[in-house]
Amino acid sequence: MPIGPVRPVRPVRPVIPVKPTAPVAPTVPIVPVKSMVPITVSFSEIDDAIREAHLAQKEWMRVPMIKRTKVLHLAADWMREHEHYLTTLLIKEIGKSQEEAKDEILRSADMIDYFANEALNLKGEELSGEAFPGYDQTKMAIIERVPVGVIVAIAPFNYPVNLSVAKLAPAIVTGNAVLFKPPTWGSISSLHLTEIFHRAGVPDGILNTVTGSGSTIGDYIVTHKGVDMVTFTGSSAVGQLIATKTGMIPLLFECGGNNPAIVLPDCDMEATSMEIVKGAFSYSGQRCTAIKYVLGFEQTIDKLIPMVVKKTKEHFKIGDPRIPENNMGPVISEEAAEEIEKRIIMAKVNGAKIVMGGKRAGLYIEPTILDNVRPSMEVVRIETFGPVVSFFRFKSVEEMVIMINQSTYGLQASIFTNDEGAGIALSKKIEVGSVQINSKPQRGPDHFPFLGIKGSGVGVQGIRYTLEAMTRPKPIVLNKPH
Ligand code: NAP
Repeated sequence: MPIGPVRPVRPVRPVIPVKPTAPVAPTVPIVPVKSMVPITVSFSEIDDAIREAHLAQKEWMRVPMIKRTKVLHLAADWMREHEHYLTTLLIKEIGKSQEEAKDEILRSADMIDYFANEALNLKGEELSGEAFPGYDQTKMAIIERVPVGVIVAIAPFNYPVNLSVAKLAPAIVTGNAVLFKPPTWGSISSLHLTEIFHRAGVPDGILNTVTGSGSTIGDYIVTHKGVDMVTFTGSSAVGQLIATKTGMIPLLFECGGNNPAIVLPDCDMEATSMEIVKGAFSYSGQRCTAIKYVLGFEQTIDKLIPMVVKKTKEHFKIGDPRIPENNMGPVISEEAAEEIEKRIIMAKVNGAKIVMGGKRAGLYIEPTILDNVRPSMEVVRIETFGPVVSFFRFKSVEEMVIMINQSTYGLQASIFTNDEGAGIALSKKIEVGSVQINSKPQRGPDHFPFLGIKGSGVGVQGIRYTLEAMTRPKPIVLNKPH
């Protein structure tokens, strides 16, 4: 049975069963329904939430860190306890496969624990003036790390639990209050997450969830005078829009990725082709870290494409993700499916060759492999958030680097080679946040720094990095008598 209609009202209290439930047996194909879209809060409710957040935050920052971390650990335990239920919800709400949904829930619980543990290591410092010419020991600074205040957290549909946790856990543990706007698709899962935090002991006013479409309430939230920081994950277009409006407050943005993979002739072709298949098509290509295009020499690409086709057929079974055998579900919406299909058709019209797939049935899009693509084609010039990967043939590695560096995106890139030294040397020439040698792009492990440059983001995430980003140093300078 699909969920719905569900119309949570504020204050939202989703029901979490005391015991985990087994996944509900699928009966009809999954189709996200509009009735699942939560209500839109009013602007005055947002004002109230921000006012309450400021009041509560002053108290919360005085709660000892060790007590705040205990709340987080409890939330992580609750997530594990309800893993089945939350997994089922994710499958039904955003069409993830069972494996992907379960992984998102468990990884989120681990992330909460890690944030709590690492928060205990967050330190200020003490500095003496004597290190700088003209000063001596009479001047010293006690530098504390203090919370920034009230943080707006906006999450995307593709990881409505994990990428919400990546914002809420560090903000809460460091003594901030949060105004959380979940994605419209994925809001039911996000709302269950916030309920878990509340039941684990996050006090009233610290985690304030406001639902509604980003296009309706987004502007009001990010331009609100009571907001001290915005942390956002979503498309580059929305990220750019928010960045132009917020004014002088800290921003922490993870935006679109349009990630390339360079395949050098000396690589392990079996392993590489499998990484490309998973990198391009997991969760129907709806991942910021998906591989969107592959670059190589003519002979390498000639050899690689049939291997990628074969492995795609072997590895992915497309269909209703509530049936455990299916590991590739629908894309998120009719609009998204139409846009992806349009880009494939336009690429074909303009001379690209569809090597595999290319067809759509409702929200389901076949894993699609394109050859003879030109960099100017929309399917590869801008992030196509679906199961589509394009192949490019080059005469030199330098030309590959030029194509990657000309992109307006800069999240990650992969290099496949058996020569690690050559891989590292090439990594230094590529203008992206991170380079993966012999792996598909990925976000984890979550304590590694994760960042996008150019249109792909602002600031650095990763457990310690996020904790630092959500606090600021506050020097208190002592001027002692001589
Ligand atoms: P999106 O359309 O940009 O939406 C992201 C979030 O922003 C949603 O909560 C959305 O609300 C909200 N929003 C929309 N318009 C807004 C506005 N004017 N002001 C404030 N908030 C607004 O992205 P998406 O389709 O959910 O997610 C896919 C995108 O996220 C892809 O581009 C993907 O690459 C990127 N992403 C990046 C990372 C990363 O780590 N770099 C990770 C995951 C996803 P509604 O849902 O109500 O519209």
